[in-house]
Amino acid sequence: MNSSWDAVIIGGGHNGLVCAAYLARAGHKVLVLERREVLGGAAVSEEVFPGFTFSVASYVISLFRPRIIRELELAKYGYQVIPMDCAFQPLHDQHGLARWSDADRTYSEISRYSRHDAENYHDFKRTLTRLSRIAAQIISRPAPTGFRLQDLRTLTEMLPLIRDLEPHELQQLVRLLTLSAVDFLDEWFESDILKAPLSASGIIGTFQGVRSPGTAYVLLHHYMGELDGAFRSWGFARGGTGSVSLACAKAAQAHGAVIRTEAEVTQVRVRNNRATGIVLAGGEEISARRIISNLDPRRTLHGLVGAVHLPEDTVNALARFTYRGSSGKVNLALDGLPDFTCRPGIGDHLRGDIAIAPSVDYLEQAFDEAKYGAFSSRPFINAVIPSLTDPSIAPPGKHVMSCFVQYAPYDLAEGHETWSLQREAFGQTVLDTLEEFAPKLRDHIEHMQILTPLDLERDFGLTEGNIFHGELSLNQLLFQRPAWGMAGYRTPIRNLWMCGSGTHPGGGVMGASGELAAKALLRERI
Ligand SMILES: Cc1cc2nc3c(=O)[nH]c(=O)nc-3n(C[C@H](O)[C@H](O)[C@H](O)COP(=O)(O)OP(=O)(O)OC[C@H]3O[C@@H](n4cnc5c(N)ncnc54)[C@H](O)[C@@H]3O)c2cc1C
Repeated sequence: MNSSWDAVIIGGGHNGLVCAAYLARAGHKVLVLERREVLGGAAVSEEVFPGFTFSVASYVISLFRPRIIRELELAKYGYQVIPMDCAFQPLHDQHGLARWSDADRTYSEISRYSRHDAENYHDFKRTLTRLSRIAAQIISRPAPTGFRLQDLRTLTEMLPLIRDLEPHELQQLVRLLTLSAVDFLDEWFESDILKAPLSASGIIGTFQGVRSPGTAYVLLHHYMGELDGAFRSWGFARGGTGSVSLACAKAAQAHGAVIRTEAEVTQVRVRNNRATGIVLAGGEEISARRIISNLDPRRTLHGLVGAVHLPEDTVNALARFTYRGSSGKVNLALDGLPDFTCRPGIGDHLRGDIAIAPSVDYLEQAFDEAKYGAFSSRPFINAVIPSLTDPSIAPPGKHVMSCFVQYAPYDLAEGHETWSLQREAFGQTVLDTLEEFAPKLRDHIEHMQILTPLDLERDFGLTEGNIFHGELSLNQLLFQRPAWGMAGYRTPIRNLWMCGSGTHPGGGVMGASGELAAKALLRERI
């Protein structure tokens, strides 16, 4: 194997793989080093139990940038996402609420609870879709990195996007940036039943409640997903989320990149403030002209470089960048489907996402417990049963059900190490909560995988279990992600770059950090 490379990428998460594909496509000699035996990081498919393939962590796709799919020809390498048709919210009544891609069907569902809200829903979606297009363009370009002349140019390039907005849309944008998800939704709707699942999009991956200012922006972040040109549409990757990562890996390999798994990097070698190579867990050293880390900023700079090589202001900035994981995951292998009391039987309502979010107060109370170091006794759950859409991931007649759960605070009152003792209780709490709406679910469970934030940290390398490599709060976005002066994928160590979700534009299976980092490197003629 070559001893010197143009670029070594640490981490084979989807962003590292996208970055590798772009650099290799431009003719560079690229090596990817992944710690685990599988590729994809948090965007991974694994056969956890015989015959049952899970999207173990990330479970639905929407944010992945269409430009990357096109430029890297990912469809050729197996990228295929099947859109979901429904968002179902079980309730303690005779109906529950299902929102469908069909507008008329959604109108009649919402009008059961509020005619006013059913009337407004279409306008709400149209406004958010317009604003999402602006946001999607901002995340498709590098963030301004400071206040030099060229940075101001980037800012002014963004302004025409905003100038296109109608005055009322501009007003909505400002409100989205400043309000809580609930305050924002209060301006549109009256029904708590509708506001609850909508506001839940504002808390995904954050350590905030639906009434915390700033969560309206997270709602927009989850709205700007796009499948086949349709905004706010989410879908399942055929073969599980890992197939997106594998498509990126195959594109990289087709252009000559080399990928090694079970290759844990323990150190970035630094000489005279310059990165010269890496050291692997077994002691092997590999030299490269550029090192690009797919790890989060803390792991990259504190972990692999070491504070001794860093300027004091970088050490301070890294200390300010918060992670505070708040999510867990429970994956179920089932021999039958859940039967929801409010909408019995097997219907299309099971084919999309299923949100346990019966009211705004329910969600806020779930956060209240987390604030004081306990997992929610009645958590918010976002469940999907992708085997209904893609039967290849479960044995015939059986299913996988994936449950994303909040809140599961990394810092328990008794210390994060006690997650190992509380894992089982956490899993049972999730089942109890689901059985409030779908009794006898337990009768169908053949196997269960429980992932606490501590497991996400240990198994996936997600610091403090944060699913986005650092909170997606307004103070950690754009030129502040991960810190002033470091938003351009560079680090204070020459030749060491970053390409993971801890950089602009942040977390989610978007590929954007990997793409933008690669393009920044290519502009520098690596
Ligand atoms: C439970 C959960 C649910 C989620 N749900 C969704 C969802 O439905 N939709 C969505 O869009 N997003 C979701 N996300 C967020 C999304 O998955 C992540 O933001 C994204 O996958 C991060 O990608 P990345 O490439 O930046 O980093 P990662 O995926 O974290 O990749 C980093 C890679 O580096 C490797 N690594 C770590 N240390 C070393 C080392 N020392 N040496 C070598 N390799 C190393 C890791 O093993 C990993 O493969 C979810 C995340 C989680 C955890």
